Amino acid sequence: MRENGQSSETITFLGTGGARFMVISQLLASGGIWFSLNGTEILMDPGPGCIVQVTKRKLNPEKLSAIIVSHRHLDHTADVNVMTEAMTQGGFKKHGRLFAPSDAIDTEPIIFNYLRENLEGVEILEAGKTYAIGNVSFTTPVRHIHRVENYGMVFKTQRHTIAYITDTCYFEELAGYYHGDLLIMNVTFLEPRVFTPEHPGMTIDHLAVPDAERLIKEIKPKTAILTHFGMNVWRAKPWLIAEQLTQKTGVRVIAARDGMKFDLSELDKSEEMN
Ligand SMILES: [Zn+2]
Repeated sequence: MRENGQSSETITFLGTGGARFMVISQLLASGGIWFSLNGTEILMDPGPGCIVQVTKRKLNPEKLSAIIVSHRHLDHTADVNVMTEAMTQGGFKKHGRLFAPSDAIDTEPIIFNYLRENLEGVEILEAGKTYAIGNVSFTTPVRHIHRVENYGMVFKTQRHTIAYITDTCYFEELAGYYHGDLLIMNVTFLEPRVFTPEHPGMTIDHLAVPDAERLIKEIKPKTAILTHFGMNVWRAKPWLIAEQLTQKTGVRVIAARDGMKFDLSELDKSEEMN
């Protein structure tokens, strides 16, 4: 607890790997992101190995108020069942909510029925809606361009606004939907890849480094954190990419590391420096 009676606000990166080849090799972990915001604990996108990372980092799933899934792809949902089991104390306590797009719940549910019964509720994410979890509210401003239904989030706490741009093709209006002191972005590719010769016409719908540069320049957060790296981004050393983006944009850009815990009070420090 701080002097003003508010507890700290931190974000722990349970994994920084994204897309299929990185995830199946586990060169980088793929556990998602854990938000601890003024006493409210939220787990975002529990990919494969989330439970392993959570226990390794000594985080307590019983404290979670919610699990949010941006979209149903495996690297964002593989551990949603085991994390529900953990959040509900092995099913002994009806507790916590799951937020997900309708195609993750209605058509082929990502959550087993017998575990779903232990949740306090399942909330369907829709474009333009606002939701509340404990001391935090968040909006899902726009449906992303991805092969499945997919939403990023803008979280608001008493002190901070955090924008999370999950997987998407870059599109013109994207920056307009996301404003925050902190911008977290899934940057999976080095260069935009529209299609592969083997699959002509098929878009590969992830942000690339030049997209990240454009978005940071337009959104102008106090700090931007890159994560969800594909193989080529990892080979190019994300921390060097972050350094270059800092120089190009004038915004402090950080490449997340597996297990990195970002304290949001750092955002207030950067304000003092300006
Ligand atoms: Zn995806």
